[in-house]
Amino acid sequence: MSGPEIKGWCPGALRPMQSGDGLITRVRPRLGQLSNTQALGLCDASATFGNGIIDLTNRANLQLRGIKPHNHQAVVDALLALDLLDETPELEARRNIICAPLRSTDGLTARLALELTERLAELPELPGKFGFAIDVDGPPQLSDAPADIRIETGPSGLIVRADGSPLGMRVTTDTAINDLISIARWFAQNRDNDIRRMAAHLGSVPLPLRFARETSHKPAAQLVPAQLPQGRVFGAPFGSLPTTELRALLASNSTSTLTLTHSRMFLLSGQLDAGETSFITTPDAPELGVDACPGAPACTATQQSTRAIARALTPHLKGRSLHVSGCTKGCARPRNADVVLVGQNGGFDLVLNGVSWDVPVLQGIKPDSVIDAVINELGRH
Ligand code: SF4
Repeated sequence: MSGPEIKGWCPGALRPMQSGDGLITRVRPRLGQLSNTQALGLCDASATFGNGIIDLTNRANLQLRGIKPHNHQAVVDALLALDLLDETPELEARRNIICAPLRSTDGLTARLALELTERLAELPELPGKFGFAIDVDGPPQLSDAPADIRIETGPSGLIVRADGSPLGMRVTTDTAINDLISIARWFAQNRDNDIRRMAAHLGSVPLPLRFARETSHKPAAQLVPAQLPQGRVFGAPFGSLPTTELRALLASNSTSTLTLTHSRMFLLSGQLDAGETSFITTPDAPELGVDACPGAPACTATQQSTRAIARALTPHLKGRSLHVSGCTKGCARPRNADVVLVGQNGGFDLVLNGVSWDVPVLQGIKPDSVIDAVINELGRH
């Protein structure tokens, strides 16, 4: 089965997107980080103008949902006051930069990300979802994050690597952004108009040898909820950050910064007692392997609610990963899961070990029998 239709742009704060429950206003914190004041300010904006739940995306950005159109300007004003706004929608759309969440203290991640931010105007015209990963603190932490050009480290030092190529180009801290721009220009000059991502492009056009000579380190171990030297990592079920819960954590350490990850976790700096919270605090929680998009009524592309089914199935997974998707687009998990439920034709289809647009093993499961049907099917495998 071919993949779903992908929209060519991402919503932003200045260019929100209409959804079933109002406007989605996306916020792209610089370096994927918020001060305590900024995080509290976003909680206020979400609670006052939105649905009181902030979404954490798989690009380490945040979304306020449920914004009424007449409140959008008030949200923009709030973001401006919090220093969370770009000057123009164009600049906002281009600033697709993910930074490694665990960083060394030499500041190289921040330096490179800020240099790239300042030089965004030098990039060629690129597809809306084309993005960059700055991942220079030891073994790559962002290997499974969506990015098209990556700055990483390998045995020979710093490299810039086109996504989809195992090899990158050796660079220095002074040349890294120049070389990243060179690879972006090569992509822009050589791509077909309907190819929007680097890895897909490399499927038909070979990367010039000058960009592909050096290996990267093997990926780092997956980040999991734990207290680390840099701070405490929390998981956010379905990427949801209820503002009441987030406020309580932020209040426990008023000097903390909040660093977002692409894997729907966040790190709060300092030594923190997790206490009573609905966020995921243990590394083996089954919820870490469960994804579900907002479903109906928040998204008009489906009639199915998704997250209640995901919650009900979680205790039955026995270590398997689960994706409940309102439709074949698969927004919440554009990669394989062991069990995938897909809203279709008033019911659900079941895919095993695949993505939401794969051929299902069961079709037309009625919503009220979906839990039993999945448990039965898992019992047979
Ligand atoms: S996958 Fe979910 S959120 Fe995405 S379009 Fe389909 S129903 Fe909407």
